[in-house]
Parts: sequence; structure tokens; C-alpha cells
Amino acid sequence: MFHHYKEAFIRLFYPAMCEVCRASLELEEAILCRKCSEDLDALAWPMDQTLVDESFEHLDHVWTVYAYDSPVKELLYGVKYARKDYLLKTCRKRAIGLAQAVISDHEYDAILPIPIDRLKLVKRHFNQAEVFAEMLGSRLMPPVQKSFLIKRRSIPSQTSLSQHERAINIYGAFKLRRLPRVRGGSFLLLDDVLTTGATANEAARLLKLHGARRIDLLALARTDHPQSISMKLKLGRS
Ligand SMILES: [Zn+2]
Repeated sequence: MFHHYKEAFIRLFYPAMCEVCRASLELEEAILCRKCSEDLDALAWPMDQTLVDESFEHLDHVWTVYAYDSPVKELLYGVKYARKDYLLKTCRKRAIGLAQAVISDHEYDAILPIPIDRLKLVKRHFNQAEVFAEMLGSRLMPPVQKSFLIKRRSIPSQTSLSQHERAINIYGAFKLRRLPRVRGGSFLLLDDVLTTGATANEAARLLKLHGARRIDLLALARTDHPQSISMKLKLGRS
């Protein structure tokens, strides 16, 4: 209760604004206003649907928490370019729910955030896929392995490339450390935004080349909208 008064007092002088639309926040709201929170909820992918796509050749199953649209776009942009990690709190509950469902259904040996190259790491100071892994926190069993999969070189921007060009562009971009642990293993890749899937697919290709049995991907957001690819959705998690 005291905390509530204190918060009200602070907001008298420093009114809090919605991080996406800049509307003033009610006392019980944090980060997002009610409208933006509802918009965020509307972007959630159905939890029991795995995405299948011919471009995910080496990925067994792909799940995503949200469609990549406003306000997910603004939230991830804020994390990536303004270092506002706290914005991810808005996605936390749903992301943990999905991660727990996926993990409880499959026996993974490790969880691997998709790495970024050193140059990007120096520029941004963090890897967003790792921030996503940290957000899921200690609830993640099996362990998150950050230094297992390594990005060996800088990749020219993928944004203007077609799906096929992206696959060529990314080919050979990863390497593995501690190879003996891959054979027969089952791994869950984590990424922030899934666009064509070329990057995750390349990581999966390498892991399978070294004997991995199963590679799945959990992404925070996917650029397609659920309705637009409803034909590609496959029910069930197995
Ligand atoms: Zn808002």
C-alpha cells in the first residue's frame, strides 16, 4: 500500500508514459498503456501451433511467441537500439509460458541462443537472443549454453535479400565449440525475430551436420502474421 502511495506521489511530478504510444499511464499500468497491452495480446501466436515452412529445412519445429507488428516492433526496437531491456518485461509471462510448454514436451540437451558476430556485439553491447534467454530465466531446464554456437564472421545486411540469397549469404557463418556433445543431441535454438528463418536454419544445418538429432527454434516474434500463413500452420507440438 505504501508503495502505491509512493508511486502516485512520484508520478505527480514525473508522469509515466506508455513506451509505445506516449499516452499517460494510469497508476496500475507499467510500460504499456491499456490499449497497447491489448494490441500486444492480440499479436500472440496460438501456443499449441508449431510453424512449418519449406524454408526451415533443417529445423524440426518452430514456435514463436508473437507476430512482429506494433507494439512488438517498437518494444524490440527499444531493446535493440535504446538498450531498454526492461521493455521485454511486457512479453515475459507469455514467453515463459510457451517456453515451458515446449521444453516440457521435448527433452533438450541444451538451449542455444543464436549468436551475433563480435562487431555487432561491440556496437550493441549485448546479444538480443541472449537477453531473451535471460528473460526466460532459471525456469529454463536444460541449461542455456552461450558459448556453444559461435558466429564466425560478419554477415552483410540481410534485409534487402530474397530468401534464397539469405541462405547463401549466411552459409558457413557459424562454428561449434565442444563438438563431441552434439552427436545424438537435441537442441532448442532461441532468437528474437524470425524473418525468413535462414539464420536459424543455417545454425540447425551445422548442428545436424555434426550429428544432432533434433533442432527446434523458439523465437520471440515472427514477421509473418498468423492469418497470412494460416495454411502453413500445423497443429500439435510433436
Ligand atoms: Zn500505449
